[in-house]
Amino acid sequence: MKNILIELDDVNFNYEHTAVLENISLKVGEGEFWALIGPNGSGKSTLLNIILGLLTPDAGSVKLFGSNIEEFKQRERIGFVSQKSNSFNSGFPATVLEVVRSGLTRKTGLFKSFSKKDEKKAVEALKIVGMDRFKSRNIGELSGGQQQRVFIARALAGEPELLVMDEPTVGIDQQNVTSFYSMLNELNRDHGIAILLVTHEIDLVTDLATHVACLNRTIHFHGIQSEYKKMGDEKISKWYGHPVRRVHQHVEEAKR
Ligand code: ADP
Ligand code: MG
Repeated sequence: MKNILIELDDVNFNYEHTAVLENISLKVGEGEFWALIGPNGSGKSTLLNIILGLLTPDAGSVKLFGSNIEEFKQRERIGFVSQKSNSFNSGFPATVLEVVRSGLTRKTGLFKSFSKKDEKKAVEALKIVGMDRFKSRNIGELSGGQQQRVFIARALAGEPELLVMDEPTVGIDQQNVTSFYSMLNELNRDHGIAILLVTHEIDLVTDLATHVACLNRTIHFHGIQSEYKKMGDEKISKWYGHPVRRVHQHVEEAKR
């Protein structure tokens, strides 16, 4: 049977007196690619913060890799790429390789020098995201999309089994978003890394993900991609709170 990497059971969360998340139950299994979609303010980032242990639910339980989150100590099994990673300006004094190696500090100790082995891991991670030829470049000289690939490599250098991302395509040009998502698809399909991707770009991602969860304070739908696609746009518009028309772009879908 598949290992369950994330298990949320009846999670509730309030900021002050506002209910932001209600009765959230969700299981993410190994090797799955989940798109967590929902409009702005629907609680997506809050839910990720709960999964990452940065916020504590008011009710319900969170398990990571089968352990209660309070007892979970193997944080290196989860790689996280935030929304605001790609904000370096051209003067930022770090090379691509340095940024990726910094993802390994937890294992090597902050002040130890980096070993040849770390360097190799960092280069391998850069190869996976197609950025190895940029390893000596300054991070600030890269486009938003390239920077975000470097941050994915940084997360991958620690060899996580699960990659969690919060709207990673914010700030990426539309024409590069497609290839960015194709890369995520390869990461999942060829390297077996489970992905939980938060986005409000409902069209592109839902063609790539194996599973979709629709959030707007509570989970309105969760299931495999084909079931999501069968759902009518009217139903999606209803939980989204405004009219939604899905355009199917079929990014790399044939490969799945
Ligand atoms: P999303 O990521 O889907 O846009 P968020 O999880 O950021 O949604 O926010 C969900 C709701 O919680 C929104 O109504 C937002 O205004 C509110 N919220 C977010 N962060 C805070 C906070 N630190 N304090 C109070 N309310 C917040
Ligand atoms: Mg958010």
